[in-house]
Amino acid sequence: MSFIFADAWLITMNERREVLEGASVCVEKDRIVAVGTRQDLQRRFQTAEIVDCTGRIVMPGMVNTHTHLFQTLLKGLGDDMVLKKWFTCMTGPSGVHLTPEDAHVAALHGCVESIRSGVTTLVDFMYVHTRPGMIKSVVEAFDQTGMRGFVCRGFISLGEEYGVPRELIEEPEHAIGDAREQMRRYNMAGARVQVGVAPNMIWAVDEKGYRLTRKLADEEHALITTHVAETTFELETAASRYGQTDTEFLSDIGFLGPDVLAAHCVHCKSHDIRILLHHNTKVAHNPCSNLYLASGCPPIPEMLLAGVTVGLASDGPASSNNHSLFQAMKFAALMQKGFHRDATVITAEKVLEMATIDGARAVGLEKEIGSIEAGKKADLIVIDYDNAFMTPIHHPVSAIVYSALGHEVSAVMIDGRFVMRDGVVSTVNEIAVRRQAQISADDLARRAGSDRFKKRPWRSMTI
Ligand SMILES: [Zn+2]
Repeated sequence: MSFIFADAWLITMNERREVLEGASVCVEKDRIVAVGTRQDLQRRFQTAEIVDCTGRIVMPGMVNTHTHLFQTLLKGLGDDMVLKKWFTCMTGPSGVHLTPEDAHVAALHGCVESIRSGVTTLVDFMYVHTRPGMIKSVVEAFDQTGMRGFVCRGFISLGEEYGVPRELIEEPEHAIGDAREQMRRYNMAGARVQVGVAPNMIWAVDEKGYRLTRKLADEEHALITTHVAETTFELETAASRYGQTDTEFLSDIGFLGPDVLAAHCVHCKSHDIRILLHHNTKVAHNPCSNLYLASGCPPIPEMLLAGVTVGLASDGPASSNNHSLFQAMKFAALMQKGFHRDATVITAEKVLEMATIDGARAVGLEKEIGSIEAGKKADLIVIDYDNAFMTPIHHPVSAIVYSALGHEVSAVMIDGRFVMRDGVVSTVNEIAVRRQAQISADDLARRAGSDRFKKRPWRSMTI
């Protein structure tokens, strides 16, 4: 099939960052083949179907560089809690009781949510493996919805003393062996969905776990993702265990590299940032989660000035309550401006780069996705700006980052296939997915004992 997205306000994100008015894009099969005028493209690609984009913005699909899709079932259960209670009373027990069926339903709903808010590539960090089949459940949800991305086989190898449920703890050899098996099953050349590996964080994974991860990634050429310096607790445990920051330790043992996507990095200091840059390690920035869990404000402007690649992310909905990258963009900009009391410290344009081309670079796919250019994969979204929120419109990037709410996305194409068109998700029955997600969420909360947070008393002030 070929399509011409005609007469759009086109945000290319190409090297020159061209924003073109009245521009058109032609897609053939899974690739973008040309950008030009409607007339020119119609002449060159006579059989292509015209998708009228008058009054619409066309831009690259967004890349969500960090989430935990299973947490889609946990929205709202962890509001206003200190981190330890959030983990020990809600997220941890939910993981223990999660079934592969729950993981599948959660991932389906999370992918639908992502598609609706213009995300075409997702990095899932799946650290619950209490029962076999968790990775398969998530990969199948990517397949069914048409999502592109990485399903990373996470693991926890210690941390009972910090409240990690014993059921979530695995021997690193076992976790890495399973990760290798999943990679060999799914990682065909050019596959839309790839399996990566994800040691959880410094206080929940031992040195052996990190070393085995590095070896596996080298052998299988797989993406690694891990949490780095998310909270002060990580720094405290790293200091007491290794006498270093987690970034320094991971560098010293040969773990860091260009294939590592470090989520959060909230408490990275200048020295840590130099280390990340030295290894060309990428950062997944989760502004909503960092604020929701009161983790802090990461030094994103310093990282950007240093030249570190920073992608944008939602984090799991247990700590951000949705998968909207529109919210992530706005929060990413506003948190830095407020924290630094400097409105010039980050721009709307940079935030949009983080959500698209920089996110693509963060996962090693910058040659394939992240911009609208001939030769790249046809991952693009259409935003209908003819609505109360985005108008009056003067500048499309400003309107997307600061005015849009996310529901303005009217069409999403991944790999040359419409996964949403005219506001309708076309790959799965969205209503059935939503109904099942509510049933599974209610049932999981009951089994995990976190349903008590559903009936919380009204609390105008701190608990
Ligand atoms: Zn996370």
